[in-house]
Amino acid sequence: MPCCRGRILFCWACGQAKSRILRALTALLDEQTPYVAGCEIRDNPYHPLCKRCRNLIAERGDTTPIAYLSRHERYVEKLATPDVTIADLVGDLDPIKAARGGEDLSSEFTMHYGLLPRANRGIFAINELPDLAGKIQVALFNIMQEGDVQIKGYPVRLELDVALVFSANPEDYTARGKIVTPLKDRIGSEIRTHYAETIEEGLTITAQEAWTDRGLPEMEIPQYLREIVEQVAFSAREDKRVDKRSGVSQRLPISTMELVVSNAERRALVHGESLVLPRIGDLYAALPGITGKLELEYEGEMKGADVVVKEVMRTAIGKIFDKYFASTNTQQIEQWFNLGGTTKIEDSQPTKLTLEELRQIQGLFEKLSPLGIKASSKPEEIVAASEFLLEGMCAHRRLSRSEERAFVAQKKAQPPRQERPSSESEYEEWQTRRSRRGGFN
Ligand SMILES: [Zn+2]
Repeated sequence: MPCCRGRILFCWACGQAKSRILRALTALLDEQTPYVAGCEIRDNPYHPLCKRCRNLIAERGDTTPIAYLSRHERYVEKLATPDVTIADLVGDLDPIKAARGGEDLSSEFTMHYGLLPRANRGIFAINELPDLAGKIQVALFNIMQEGDVQIKGYPVRLELDVALVFSANPEDYTARGKIVTPLKDRIGSEIRTHYAETIEEGLTITAQEAWTDRGLPEMEIPQYLREIVEQVAFSAREDKRVDKRSGVSQRLPISTMELVVSNAERRALVHGESLVLPRIGDLYAALPGITGKLELEYEGEMKGADVVVKEVMRTAIGKIFDKYFASTNTQQIEQWFNLGGTTKIEDSQPTKLTLEELRQIQGLFEKLSPLGIKASSKPEEIVAASEFLLEGMCAHRRLSRSEERAFVAQKKAQPPRQERPSSESEYEEWQTRRSRRGGFN
């Protein structure tokens, strides 16, 4: 009788919700499952495996004590590492147990059970399967195939009823470790997961997972800001300075969104403002949360994570800017800056004061209509939208912005090309050329 049913291998890069998918499998199990009370391997009362339970049931029949397992208790997970042993996974012979019970060493009474037998009648998930040593994989294979395994030379029979699921990073099992062929052959299905394919999918996941619903009396996250946060992850995945093997986890936009809201919340508290409305400055405040989530290639490491992430943000802002402002003529705003105008949008200033400052920029507020901004809009909404417009113009090099968040006119000299060799920079240059061509439309 085949003992381990349902073998599935999930392949994924970092942050594709593997734990979520694996744990969700428990939803397919019965809510309650009876087992022989006190059994270490949770024996089925109708089909007991261990000698203890067989003896007990023979002796007590229908009065054998029964206990119940919840779905949650039937899920066991193990992260594979090279130091995982057969003893961890399958079990070991316990000579002390043998001596006390006067049993032979090969008797199952002397067995100290590992994780797999303890997952009997449940789901056993092994994460990062290729990291498991080859001989352990062979032991797993034997259990799947024959229901038996040798421990220290003694054959031990374990006809377990376990659904095995594995996870592996596809990059890993071609490059680093590997899955031994007989085991791979015994795996039923191989499911390849992927990152969100569209911004919309990403937005839905982030909105569902990010801790933004904090019971704040008034909070509003502009749609364009949500899109920019999501686009940062998409642009990072495309950036060749970011390590493709590690991938860019969906946790990146989720935690970025949380940091963005936190910074907006802090600003509102400092100035005694009731409406918490995140804006692009808050995205820059979330920078330390993003740099830690990216593995960089050599070229990126040389530039520094901060520089790379800022460029990725700039690309993301530029792309979302195009979505809303593709047909907006920003010449009048550029002119204001070319005549020496300068403005700063920063956290230390109350929103109303920032709004007054922005009011001096002729033509700025009228250009915000693609974002649904009207004269009657709230000050926080107008300031956030203005900052997005100005940041987008910076992304397309129509304006410049200092590290201190002061917007000024764009200097005419182009930076030397060899310093910005990425595809993102090429995209920006293409955008600049395009905007120059169509500047007066
Ligand atoms: Zn038992």
